[in-house]
Amino acid sequence: MKNFKKIFAVVLALAMLFCFAGCGAKDTNSGADAKAKLVMGTNAAFPPYEYVDDNGTIVGIDAEIAKAIADKLNMELEIKDMDFDSLITACAGGSIDVVLAGLTVNEERKLSVNFSDTYATGIQAIIVKEGSDIATADDLEGKTIGVQAGTTGDIYCTDDYGQENVKQYKTGVEAVMALQNGQVDCVIIDNEPAKSFVAANEGLKILDTEYAVEDYAIAVAKENTELLEKINKAMAELKADGTIDNIINKYIPAE
Ligand code: GLN
Repeated sequence: MKNFKKIFAVVLALAMLFCFAGCGAKDTNSGADAKAKLVMGTNAAFPPYEYVDDNGTIVGIDAEIAKAIADKLNMELEIKDMDFDSLITACAGGSIDVVLAGLTVNEERKLSVNFSDTYATGIQAIIVKEGSDIATADDLEGKTIGVQAGTTGDIYCTDDYGQENVKQYKTGVEAVMALQNGQVDCVIIDNEPAKSFVAANEGLKILDTEYAVEDYAIAVAKENTELLEKINKAMAELKADGTIDNIINKYIPAE
């Protein structure tokens, strides 16, 4: 009987120990669970700002800047890959918190979302086939222009040359394929992805002229002003300590 009591006491002690250990582990877990999420929407077909690497992970300048901001805000970053032309609506509607997508600040978008301070410059570039008779933006009249749907390239070209001369594609790569196949005469898209598409395809070149110069920033829902302020503060710190420059230089080596 005495032995039984002893064994019982030991079992009880062990059980309590496990319980504490268990509770402890659970506490740490709930700590991690409690970390607020920062949900970023992007279109991961826009190298070097966002693309899917060989391991199937979304990487790039925007992914790294978002991670650095999330770390500063003690938030956990989640990235959602979506069609480019649904990003602003998703952000305004609250299904994502922020858009980082090499996203240009423009007046029309400002009606739906707020923009953070800017973190990079984008240039709308013109891609043509080698030997094309298009040499500058002045030669685009009457040509068929390929663009990524909903981008500023799409918006400017539609305004400047008319809807009937602009063909929209879901991604820049698809627009570039159409150029290769002769379905369009040129593609207008941001300079950095343009470089990467031209490098991956024989017989294409980027014209020396710039079609438009613009600023990239993070979009946040209009009512989410607290998050916007926090993002701007974090970004100012990341600019000051060189983090943003380092991220950009890692993906866009100085020429
Ligand atoms: N900078 C362009 C825009 O904001 C294109 C961005 C993109 O295709 N990811 O419209």
